[in-house]
Amino acid sequence: MIRDLHNQLVAGEVTATKLAEQYLRAIEEKDGDIGAYLTTLRTQALEAASLVDARLARGESIDLLAGIPGAIKDNICVAGVRATAGSKILDNYIAPYDATVIEKLKARGAVIVGKTNMDEFAMGSSTESSAYRKTKNPVDTERVPGGSSGGSAAAVAAGEAVWSLGSDTGGSIRQPASFCGLVGLKPTYGRVSRFGLIAMASSLDQIGPFGTSVEDVAIVFSRIAGSDAHDATTAESGNGKPFEDYLTGDIRGLSIGVPKEYFSDTLDPRVRAAADQAIERFKELGATIKEISLPHSIYALAVYYILMPSEVSSNLARFDGIKYGLRVNDAEDSMAGTSTLLETYLDTRRVGFGAEVKRRVMLGTYALSAGYYDAYYKKAQKVRALIRQDFEAAFEDVDLIFSPTTPEPAFRFGEKGDDPLKMYLSDIYTVTANLAGVPAISFPMGTIAEDGKELPLGGQLMGRWFDEETVLRAADAFEKQTAKK
Ligand code: GLN
Repeated sequence: MIRDLHNQLVAGEVTATKLAEQYLRAIEEKDGDIGAYLTTLRTQALEAASLVDARLARGESIDLLAGIPGAIKDNICVAGVRATAGSKILDNYIAPYDATVIEKLKARGAVIVGKTNMDEFAMGSSTESSAYRKTKNPVDTERVPGGSSGGSAAAVAAGEAVWSLGSDTGGSIRQPASFCGLVGLKPTYGRVSRFGLIAMASSLDQIGPFGTSVEDVAIVFSRIAGSDAHDATTAESGNGKPFEDYLTGDIRGLSIGVPKEYFSDTLDPRVRAAADQAIERFKELGATIKEISLPHSIYALAVYYILMPSEVSSNLARFDGIKYGLRVNDAEDSMAGTSTLLETYLDTRRVGFGAEVKRRVMLGTYALSAGYYDAYYKKAQKVRALIRQDFEAAFEDVDLIFSPTTPEPAFRFGEKGDDPLKMYLSDIYTVTANLAGVPAISFPMGTIAEDGKELPLGGQLMGRWFDEETVLRAADAFEKQTAKK
């Protein structure tokens, strides 16, 4: 889709301004119902579009992404624009600078039409824990779009943006991509700068793109990847060739591992059937399928739900009513006319944070406390190392690892609201890639019929560290093969 629009721009069949207006209108018409956006950026979008039009008018060449409307998750800073991260505690926070990914996208002439809804501080799998609004799944508006990047997924699925950025700490790009019938990529840890991303769990967080095709995702990814002096965990990698140029459709000779732990007896038979079909398709394409074992993946969810909250409790300590956003119980508000610093901290955090955030801060503080550090945090770190070693061993043998992205298609609103553990189980196939740091993509692999609706379901491919090239190439070959059928 991006390439088509680019060709139309270059051929003068459409202007960037018209394109921006078209998407801004789609937001106006649909978003009251869908709820993908928290902020629309009409003025900035039209300004960026007019710069692209001016270049075209002067006969200059433009980047593939120039003039193409996209949306940004609300935990990524855009200078001068509110960034709430889905939380009341950042209700009045205006980002003073651009995140590195935004700087890079702006330099290419990308047009940002708005900031999208999300679970508070990216904690959740349904976008229901946003402090602001409900986001509906455009495929079936009685269902959740997934989370935490539910707004970014819904925006693209509803035609309110061509592409979008999300963040993925344990599945927050791949799971909503699976639920909304999109492609979503979580890059290798360290491939994309986290500078200007409001942190959830710093050793797991990565920014990545959503799109309606693998090529669109590759195009956006090429433009945000790379090392950054502002993020010491980034590494230089690749040879500068854009990822969209690797999509040959040819995956003959690739070997794809299918981990037996992911296909246990508890797997929903409908999901298994869709996955089996996908495996057949990879075979048709000339890939070799091998059963493999990732023996420690059964501990992944437990490890994730110790390490992630530990990092959350530390990262969120900065929201104290002094440095950012909301401040409750200022001296003026308090009855005595004075309030202690501690009261300000406590009242601000009590009012500003939602239930899920408080739950995780408490869990993390507990896991890190002197008496329990060794039993929980340290133990989880050791198991994380074993999980990573599983991948190192597997990738000696295979080039990619395939599984379903989610254990089920999109669920209904409220279905898991009363039980956080049920919600956490949505992440069972996705958290492992974050713990190991490997790249992982979700792509539409089939549908499941429920109540007369065809609900999309994603397949996941994980690759070697910094080998997004193969991950994208295989998902693209699958997509091309599916289109032929
Ligand atoms: N659903 C997972 C969680 O709640 C993943 C979140 C994410 O990737 N940001 O932690």
